[in-house]
Amino acid sequence: MCKIKIGLLIDEFFGGAGTAFGGYGFLARKYIAKYIPDKDIEMDILLEMKEDLKEIQTEKVDNILVYKFPKNEKKVKQWLKQQNYDLFLSIEMTYPSYEILKLIDDKKLVLWIQDPRPPKLWDEKRNSMTTIQDPCVCNPLVSDLVNKMFYKGRIKFISQGNSLNERAFELYNLPKDLSVQYLPNPIEIDFEYKFDINKKKKQVVFLGRLEAQKRAWLFCEVAKCMPEYEFYVLGKFFRHEKENNKMLEQYMNENIPNLHFMGHLEGEKKEKLLKESRILLNTSIWEGIPISWLECLQYGTLPVSCLDNESLPSRFGAFVGEILGDGFEDVEKFIPSIKELMENDSLYIKNANAAIKYIRKTHNIKTFQKNLKSVLLKLAGLPITPFNGNIPKPIANYIDVKITYACNYKCEYCYQADENGIRESEFLSKENAQNLLKFLKRLKEKYQITLAGGEPFVYPHLNFLSKNLAKMGHKINIITNFSSPIETLEKFLKMAGRSINAFSISIHISQIPNFDEFYNKLQRLIDIQKENNYPFKILLTCVLTEDNFEKLKEVDKVITERFGLPLEIQRKHHITQYDTYPDEIENFMQARGLDVPIELANNINFYGRKCWCGSKFFYIESTGEVRKCYTAQENEAVWILGNLSEPDKIRINKDPAACISRDNGNCVCYKHFVRQGFLTPYYADNSEIEKLKRFKNVSLKNQAKYQFYRFISNVTFGKIRETMIDKKQKWKDMKV
Ligand code: SF4
Ligand code: SF4
Repeated sequence: MCKIKIGLLIDEFFGGAGTAFGGYGFLARKYIAKYIPDKDIEMDILLEMKEDLKEIQTEKVDNILVYKFPKNEKKVKQWLKQQNYDLFLSIEMTYPSYEILKLIDDKKLVLWIQDPRPPKLWDEKRNSMTTIQDPCVCNPLVSDLVNKMFYKGRIKFISQGNSLNERAFELYNLPKDLSVQYLPNPIEIDFEYKFDINKKKKQVVFLGRLEAQKRAWLFCEVAKCMPEYEFYVLGKFFRHEKENNKMLEQYMNENIPNLHFMGHLEGEKKEKLLKESRILLNTSIWEGIPISWLECLQYGTLPVSCLDNESLPSRFGAFVGEILGDGFEDVEKFIPSIKELMENDSLYIKNANAAIKYIRKTHNIKTFQKNLKSVLLKLAGLPITPFNGNIPKPIANYIDVKITYACNYKCEYCYQADENGIRESEFLSKENAQNLLKFLKRLKEKYQITLAGGEPFVYPHLNFLSKNLAKMGHKINIITNFSSPIETLEKFLKMAGRSINAFSISIHISQIPNFDEFYNKLQRLIDIQKENNYPFKILLTCVLTEDNFEKLKEVDKVITERFGLPLEIQRKHHITQYDTYPDEIENFMQARGLDVPIELANNINFYGRKCWCGSKFFYIESTGEVRKCYTAQENEAVWILGNLSEPDKIRINKDPAACISRDNGNCVCYKHFVRQGFLTPYYADNSEIEKLKRFKNVSLKNQAKYQFYRFISNVTFGKIRETMIDKKQKWKDMKV
C-alpha cells in the first residue's frame, strides 16, 4: 500500500507551536497526531493564515510538522499543490481552517462532527440569558463551503455522537436522512482503576471553563442549598473574564464554606478529585459531548445535568430537564437527583459500574485508532463522486414580469433611472401580455406571477393582465409604491383581489410627503381586505439609507406596533454589491434581523449548482424577452429562452440545470431562490457544465464593453423589483 498524506486542519495544537490550550487542540495533539500516523499514514498539522507572516513557517512538535501560513492565497495554494495531500481532516470546521480549505478544489475532507452550532438554535439558547452571553461563532461562509463540498462528493462526515448529527445537518444544510459514521472521541482510560464505593466521598465537581454558557453560578447556588456535601469548581476563566468574574466573585474565596474554587487542575491532582467525587454537575446551557463527562464516567463519577446529550446523563446519572435563561429560578431542579445519587448506594454502584464499562468499550484509544485509520485509508482510495439524492422541487412555480419601467417616484437609490434621473418608460405591450397568457397555457402548471415595475399601477394593461391571470387560476403578487389613490387600488382588488397572493408595499421614505395620509391609506387597505375577506398577505419593505435611518426607525415602530405587520428592512444594493453602513446602523440591522447577511450576499458562489430556474421560474423583461433568471449566464443561449412575441418557441427546461452565472458564480436573488427551493444544494459535474457552455455554440462576447447593472432594491416574496442594464446597448448587440 502507498503511504497516504493527510493535512490536519486545526486552529490550535494544545500549546504546540505557540497555540492555545483548547479542547479541539487537545484531541488533535494528544490523540490524532499521536496515534494515527504510521507506516501507511503521514500527517502534517496545518494551522491558520496570519497577517504578520511573510513566509510559510514550519516547526516540529512531538515529531510532527506544524505549519503556519502568510495571508497570501496564491503562495499557500501553490504550496498546498506541491504538498499533494491525499486528504484533509478537520475537527468540526473553523474559520481559520476554512481559509486554507477554500484554496483546495480537488481533494476530499473528513469532517469530524464535534459540536455543531446552527445559528438559529444557538441564538435561541444564548439569547435566553440576560446576564452574559458567549459570542456566536457560526460563520455562514464556513457552513456554505462545507455544504458545497458535501454535494460535490468531497466530504465524509464522522461524528463523535449521534445526538449531534441533526445539528450538523441544520448547520451545513445537509439531507436529513444522511447516514453519518459514529466515531466516538477517545480518552486515556485507566484500565487498572477499580471502583470502590468506600473511596468515594460525598462531593460534587464542576469541570469546565468559567464562561457564560457553562453557568458555573448555578453550581455555586446548588452548593449553597446543599451544605451537607462538598462542591469543587475545576476550571479557569476564558473569554469575558471581567463579566464572568463579576458573576462568580460572590461565591469565591470560601464565602460559602462547602464551595471550593480549585482553578485549572491537571495530572494527579485532577485525577484524584475526579476519582473521589460521586457526581459531576453540569449546569451548561449548551454542550457538545464534553470530554469532562467521559473523564468522569471512567471513574464512576456520574453526571447530573440539565442537558442530556447522547443520553449520557439519563443513562448513568440524571437529566433534570432543560433549563434556559440564567437559570437561578430552576436551581431546585438539581437537588433531588444529587440527593438520590449521594444517598442511594445500590443505585449509585449499579450506575457507576455501567458507566465504567461503557467508557472502556466505547471510548478506548485502540478502537478510535483502528476506526479513524480505516476511514482515512478507505476515503483516500475512493474517487470523488457528487452526492446524488432526489432533487426536491420548489415550493411553488414563479414568473416575475417587468410590466413597466415607468414610475411616478424618483427614489434616490433607484437603479431603473440613469445618472440623470432619466428612466426607461417602456412597458410590456398588450400583444405580449396576451402572449404571456399563451405561454402560461403551454406551461400547464399554475404559477405565482409577480407584476413589478417601475410602478405597476401606471401600466395601462394591468387590469387586463390581472383579470386574465386570475381567470386562469394563477396567483398574483403585486409590488407597488402605494402612491395610487385608494379608490384605484380598491377597483383593482374588486377585479383580482381573490387571486392576489401578496400585496407588497415598498415604503420609499423620501417620496412620501405625508406619513399620516400614508398610514390612513394603509388602514383603509386593511379594512377593505377584512370587509371582503381577501386572502392576500400585506408585505411591507423599506430600503435603508444613511439619510432615512432616523425616519425609518419611526416608521418601523408604527408599522409593527400600530398595524402589527412586519417590516422588511433592506440594504441598498449597488451594482454587484450590497451597501454596508456605519456601525450604528449595522448594529440596528443586526439587532433587528438582517435582510441579507452582507458576507453571504457578496461572496456566495453558486457556479455549477443545479437550479430550477428556466423550469419552475422565469424572468420576463418588458421587451417580452424571457430569461432563465435575473443573473446573466456565461452562455447567452442558456440564459435567454425566447421572447413572448413567439410564445411557442420559448424554451422550457424540464429539469434543474447547472448555474453558469457569468458574475463569478454570484446570484443576485439567492436569498429568495434558496428560500423558495429553486436553488438546490446539488452540483452538476464538469461534463454537464461544459455541455451548457457549448449549447448552441453561443457565448457572451465583448464582455468588457457590455455593462451589466444589477441590483436588488426592493425584494419581496420572490420578486426582485429592479433589473438591469445599459438599455441602449441591449442584449441583441451581444448575440453572435
Ligand atoms: S425605486 Fe421603485 S418606486 Fe422608487 S423610483 Fe424606482 S421604481 Fe419607482
Ligand atoms: S444565477 Fe441564481 S437563479 Fe440564476 S441560475 Fe444561477 S443560481 Fe439559479
